[in-house]
Amino acid sequence: MSAREAASRILGAVDESGRHYRDSLPMIASENILSPLVRRACDSDLHGRYAEGLPGKRYYQGCDDFDTIEEIGIASAQRVFGCHFANIQSTSGTVSNMAGLKALAKPGDTITAVSTADGGHISHARMGAVGLRGLNLVTYPWVESRMEPDIDAAAALIRETEPNVALFGQSVFLFPTPLEELAEAAHEVGAKVMYDAAHVLGLIAGGQFQDPLREGADVMTGSSHKTFPGPQGGFLLSDSDDPKFQRRLNSAIFPGVCSSYHLHHVAGKAVALAEFEEFGSDYAKDIIANARALGAALAAEGFEVMAEERGYTASHQVLTRHGEADSGAGRDAATLLEEAGIITNMNMLPGDTKAMSPSGLRLGVPELTRVGMRPDEMQDVARFFARALLSEEDPKTVRTDVTEFKSGFQTVHYCFESGPAYPGLA
Ligand SMILES: *Cc1c(COP(=O)(O)O)cnc(C)c1O
Repeated sequence: MSAREAASRILGAVDESGRHYRDSLPMIASENILSPLVRRACDSDLHGRYAEGLPGKRYYQGCDDFDTIEEIGIASAQRVFGCHFANIQSTSGTVSNMAGLKALAKPGDTITAVSTADGGHISHARMGAVGLRGLNLVTYPWVESRMEPDIDAAAALIRETEPNVALFGQSVFLFPTPLEELAEAAHEVGAKVMYDAAHVLGLIAGGQFQDPLREGADVMTGSSHKTFPGPQGGFLLSDSDDPKFQRRLNSAIFPGVCSSYHLHHVAGKAVALAEFEEFGSDYAKDIIANARALGAALAAEGFEVMAEERGYTASHQVLTRHGEADSGAGRDAATLLEEAGIITNMNMLPGDTKAMSPSGLRLGVPELTRVGMRPDEMQDVARFFARALLSEEDPKTVRTDVTEFKSGFQTVHYCFESGPAYPGLA
């Protein structure tokens, strides 16, 4: 293949990927799509620029207009997340966590967190940011049936371990963390409390999940592209009004873990924040209503949906079990669903020990909600799952019907100028 041909094949695959998502039901819980105005900011000249430092305190010339953008974005983030401090520069949720851990702990310190087996993120693990910072990790006792920390046992563990940081939040995140009691235990022993809202940030900002900064979190981190519907990136947030602590957080981002911080995405985040101020609470409500409806509809089709006794979910996620623990049934289901035009990911459930052959699926509805689907459509979606996985219909037939169904949902909602959800594709 010539270099020229390589470039053209890459661009061909870029378009093909766009068409794949356009014609499918994208149900990866961490994914979302951009509004037309956010897309415009992201596809601007800013993508090649630098602005190290903070508005008004730059190391480069040429930043005046970007100062305007970042200042408006910070003020908007303070309103949206209800906090005194917001840094909107982080290039991802993982980078936000690295910065949070840099600000709150030093090598050799101890951290308590949710284990990856129970839904914690890799950045909470020794192989990720926690290990990179050289921290000793102790994980919380977990109640599998409720999919949350064992409150009494976790509080006792915090009091006994006396960590420097108590970290909360997960990637598999069905229900709010019982944060108040756990944060109280952490503060009693002098620990800082960090809440990783990567997945649920849009639900929190929309006032529909929990309010960590009011429930004891000293720092909240998050991704800007999961339930918060912006471009890929992160936030570092705190309600502290202590200038010294705020400086520590800012310098953990730059020069701590970022140099260039992707100005086009910061501009996109600032537009997404403005749109969120107007539409965020409706969006968050509709996401949760859809997730609950999907859980109930899948159960009615005969699937094993986790946490039935708790109403399946209080977030944007639904978990389903497709066979015995460690059987790989989740992987098989995800493969078959993709053939049928439904994009999901396999996930470990209670009892699973192998990440590559788990029994479950993690499903998310943020994107389906954003293209205009409501609880009625969740019934249709559940029907497609049943046709693909339970009735052994040819996945190609299901896929044709999925694409036809999806063709009615091609517009981005919850934004100032609605437009095509998957633009620029032939
Ligand atoms: C997705 C996720 C992250 C990482 O976010 P990126 O933006 O993908 O780096 C961090 N923490 C949790 C709990 C997550 O689920």
